[in-house]
Order: sequence, then structure tokens, then C-alpha cells
Amino acid sequence: STRDEAVASPGALPRAAAVRELASYEPATGVEMWRGRVGDVDDLVERARRAFPTWAAQPLSTRMELVRRFANEVRKDAEALAATIARETGKPMWEAHAEVESVLAKVEISIRAYADRTSQRKLDSALQGTMAVRHKPHGVLVVLGPFNMPAHLPGAHIVPALIAGNTVIFKPSEKAPATGELLARLLHRAGVPAAVMQVCPGGPAEGQMLVAHDGIDGVLFTGSANTGISINRKLAARPDKLVALEMGGNNPLVVWDTPKLTDAAAIVVQSAFASAGQRCTAARRLIVKDSMYEPLLAEVKALADRVIFGAPFDSPTPFMGPVIDTMAADGLTESFLYLLGHGGRAIKHLVRPDESLPFLSPAIIDVTAMADRPDVELFGPILQVVRVGDFDEAIAEANATRFGLVAALIGGTPQEYNRFWGGVRAGIVNWNRPTISPSHAGPVGGTGLSGNHRPTGYYAADYCAYPVASGEMEQPRAAIGVGLR
Ligand code: NAD
Repeated sequence: STRDEAVASPGALPRAAAVRELASYEPATGVEMWRGRVGDVDDLVERARRAFPTWAAQPLSTRMELVRRFANEVRKDAEALAATIARETGKPMWEAHAEVESVLAKVEISIRAYADRTSQRKLDSALQGTMAVRHKPHGVLVVLGPFNMPAHLPGAHIVPALIAGNTVIFKPSEKAPATGELLARLLHRAGVPAAVMQVCPGGPAEGQMLVAHDGIDGVLFTGSANTGISINRKLAARPDKLVALEMGGNNPLVVWDTPKLTDAAAIVVQSAFASAGQRCTAARRLIVKDSMYEPLLAEVKALADRVIFGAPFDSPTPFMGPVIDTMAADGLTESFLYLLGHGGRAIKHLVRPDESLPFLSPAIIDVTAMADRPDVELFGPILQVVRVGDFDEAIAEANATRFGLVAALIGGTPQEYNRFWGGVRAGIVNWNRPTISPSHAGPVGGTGLSGNHRPTGYYAADYCAYPVASGEMEQPRAAIGVGLR
């Protein structure tokens, strides 16, 4: 069987087990690496609800201590966690290790962020007594994770949610349940109670059931725009439920005048092809000044030709692995052919050496001549190139998308960067830096179809707790000064 039929229907199982099963397969080999039952949503929500009051009443210092112990557990098991991520996503080991480092970094960032952004404040006023601002957790939060960074990105919601005093039901991507389960085990080993942090293995069906469940207080989502929109729609009549959406991008990387062609090309290749292009922040569109086009593209192509793509544990070490499954590889191949058939000119073809596996080469295609360029996120190693004449055109081109996660400018003067920063619409705007790997010490989120202004990273503290204002005095002191008979 393949990953594409991973969510087995009840009919495919023996009658006695009328429970849905889920399996996960290594993209690089097709070998099954995990199998288990999907979560019982009602049961999970009920447990989480029951656990909430006690957890929320713990001193903040206790919850902080537990997430620090979680970091220690991650350190102890870093190798196993990295290997699980690498096997389950197909990414090279060096990159899986980098993901583990991000999980660790997020712990201290979240502790600092909670203290900075949700600390207790008291404003004294002689007339009105004390005005206190304190924060409360929402209750039961559902975390829906994507497959591409199956430990780091769910962790980026889970850790701040737990610090703030919420109980969490984490549904990992159906393509990365093993990583999700391991992440939860490390939290439990650290002492986070089982009912406070529960895993719900499952696919879109379990995601939908969790979102629609009356007993939850919010959804913290990282994934594609289509899914995010459907979650938003489902909760449209429930303004009381928190919805934090981190979605995809169609991210522009503008290259302007720079003498540093080799560095510029390296930034382009890194931004477009790291993780086989399976990053929300990957550069999808390279927008190049006319005069830079020939020399830059020659460098980019030469470097992309050198990119080794292979299995996680291959030697020599690959730069990137396969895409997540054969269905994704099929879709990307179709998209590439569509671009070719509608006015695109291949600079570097998309090559799939083995039809039975989802390995794809980096691909580069000039789409300047295309009349209607589809504004969709191609979640793989396909870079589209657009040639422009002047800087205003470059900014307009960068903004020609409904998404708005990242935009980056390579080269240009400080004045041009200022114009770029002011004119471009995105949650992350970089200069001479790759589009990928945003620091979680800052906000991580986007505009338009990329998110709903609840950026994660440092700012996750903001949506994990809500502020409560309290006017407070030791004794009642009524004051009606006017209007009495
Ligand atoms: P996805 O939208 O397919 O799935 C994300 C999660 O939602 C999974 O757990 C899935 O099971 C669940 N889900 C699917 N349909 C659902 C529904 N109707 N209701 C409730 N839950 C549902 O995303 P993916 O393919 O796993 O991840 C890749 C996408 O994530 C890309 O679009 C990428 O850009 C985006 N992403 C965004 C960020 C960010 O921080 N902005 C980071 C990483 C990935």
C-alpha cells in the first residue's frame, strides 16, 4: 500500500475493528513506519475539558518549569527525534537536526514572550482604585499541524498554549503521526499531564470533527490556505472561538542591482529549494531586473544543477529530499507541465528519476510571457521567474498575489529597500536574506491568504491567552455625586 491510501476506510479493516486506522510511510522508500488508530474526538475533548481547571490553576512557574523539562527531554532524545522527522518527511538529517534546534529554541522564546506580552499590570488611580490587567487561558485548544515541519510548527503553538494554561489536543498531519506521537511523549515524560496534552492521530476528518466540536475553545492551525479557509468558514457563526491561521504563500524574491552575484544566487537556491520547496516561506517567484537577468540566472541554474537530492541518510549528504508523497509529486509535475503549456519557458526541467518515488529535481521556469499566471502555492521545488524593467514594476509584481507571507529583496540601495519595505504586502519582509527560516524571536505570519493576523513565533503569546481588565478596591466605595433627590 502507499501513503496515498494512508487513511484507510473502515471497510478496509476487519469488521471487528470498526475503528479507522492511520499509517505513515517514508517518502524516500515507501516503507511503512507507523500505524495506529485515529483519535476518538469526543473522548479527547471531554478529557481535555475536565483537565483544564486544574491545569489553569497551576502557578505559572510550574507550567514554565514543565516546558523547560520538555526541552531537556528533547535534548536527551534529539537524535531519535531528528531521525523520526527525517524518515517521516524525507528531509536530510542535517535539516531534521535544525528542526529539533528550532523546537528547543521555541521553549525559551515562549517563556520570554509570555512574560513580556502577557504580564500582569496594575494601574493605580486615586479615584478608581486599582485597574488590573491579567491574562487567562482560553480553555481547550486544538492544534492542527502540517507535515513539512511536523515537530517545530505544532510545537510553536503547543508550548505557548500550555504555558498560558490551556489544555491541548494536537492533531498531527496524517502524513506525520509518528513525529506527533513522539513529540507528545517527550512532553509527557517532562511531566505535562496526559490529559493536558493529548494527541489525536487522524486526517482531515478528525480535523473537521475537532474544529466543529462544541467543547473546544479555539483552533491553532498551520497548513494550506484552502484548509484554513474551510476552518474559518466552519467557525464563522462562533465568534467566541479563537481561530489562529498560519497558511501558505506565493512568496516573491526580487533581485535588483548587486555585485554579489554568487551570494545572490545562493540565496535564491536556498530560498526556493530547501526542503524540496516544502516550506511555507519558500521563494516561489523570482523577480529579476532586466540587466541582471542573464548573469543571475546563469549562476542560479549552475548552482541548482549541483543540488543533490536524495534520501535522508544518503551519502554524500543531500541538499534536499523527496516531496512528501507520490500524489504531491504527480501534482507538481502536472503544474510544471501546465506552466510549460501556457507560455512558460523551462530554464531547468523538473525531473523525476523514479516514477514510483516522489523525488523531484529543482526546476526553474520563466513565466514572464504567461498571460494569466496562476496565483497558487506550488508546494515543491519549482521556481517561477519573472523579468521586470523598473523597480515599481518589481513591487507591483511582488504584490500580484492574494498571499502575503514573505517578500525579500536582494541587492538594491537602502532607499530602494525602504521603498520595497513600504510598498510590499507581507508579514515578513527581508533584505539580502533568504525568504526561509524566519526567526521565531519575532512574529511569524502573513497577510492575505497567508494568515489572519495572529502571527506565531514570539507573538503566539498574544493569542494563547486573553486579557481581563479588573477595577479593584479593598472596600466598596460608592460615589454618586450628582442627580440624586
Ligand atoms: P493541510 O492544510 O493539508 O493540513 C494541515 C492540517 O490540517 C493537517 O493536520 C490536516 O489533517 C488538517 N486538515 C486538513 N483538512 C482539514 C479540514 N477540512 N478541517 C480541519 N483540519 C483539516 O497542510 P499540509 O499540506 O499538511 O501543510 C503544507 C501547507 O502548510 C502549505 O500550504 C504551507 O505553506 C503551509 N504552512 C504554513 C506555515 C506558516 O507558518 N504560515 C508553516 C508551514 C506550512
